[in-house]
Amino acid sequence: MSSSIVLQVENLVKTYDNGVEAVKGVSFNVNRGEVFGILGPNGAGKTTTLEMIEGLRPITSGTIILDGINAVQHPYKIKERIGIQLQSSSFFQNLRLNELIEMFAALYGCKVDPLKLLDDVGLKDKARAMVKELSGGQKQRFSIATTLVNNPVVVFLDEPTTGLDPQARRNLWELIGQIRERGTTVVLTTHYMDEAQSLCDRIAIMDDGKIVALDSPGQLIRQLLARGFTPRTEVHAATLEDVFLDLTGKTLRD
Ligand code: ADP
Repeated sequence: MSSSIVLQVENLVKTYDNGVEAVKGVSFNVNRGEVFGILGPNGAGKTTTLEMIEGLRPITSGTIILDGINAVQHPYKIKERIGIQLQSSSFFQNLRLNELIEMFAALYGCKVDPLKLLDDVGLKDKARAMVKELSGGQKQRFSIATTLVNNPVVVFLDEPTTGLDPQARRNLWELIGQIRERGTTVVLTTHYMDEAQSLCDRIAIMDDGKIVALDSPGQLIRQLLARGFTPRTEVHAATLEDVFLDLTGKTLRD
């Protein structure tokens, strides 16, 4: 395996006990240091795929190699190397952010400087705040901070910007860009196509348990045009989101 490949998934299958074939033989590689997006409609099998890679759900069959380690045979070695974003509702609401970071670090058996980590995600001045006191965007930034405590090789983000206002979304895009700049690979899911286009080096599109396309956003668009696609509506040089951000500014509100 080339060392530029950090995650290798081959013929991954998940059939749930109720007979649902959620993942039907999925294969893909993620390169070291890239932002890799998994897109697809609800029910496509994205979460099942991610959670099998993360070791949270048993696989039916297939192979997962992460950072050269067989994830199915060595789930604990994998957990040391990955960061998983939890929903902020699963944090203890009455602990302060610096205490929660210390708790996560203790779980991983590693030492971190909570203030440095909170500073990295723009939350240094909230170190003594509780999760319940944070805005939606701050909660998302905090949950990303918790994925970084063990200095992971790959971070998995499941819909990191869902429900955020445009300013907070753009702010999170910057944060994800910074995580990539420090050499950490990011695998994310999103329902926002502009987000995938702007953030992801490559994208896998899933439908009905299978990958139906995998390439860079630019290549996927070129392939669509080569198939003779013509846009249904007039193409504008700006979007409504551009209007919104022009009128309300890019400054974070939380
Ligand atoms: P996505 O994340 O793309 O929305 P999921 O991986 O959550 O898709 O779900 C894929 C399919 O597997 C869906 O049909 C869903 O209903 C089914 N599914 C998900 N979790 C379970 C489960 N624990 N037991 C049975 N079926 C499940």
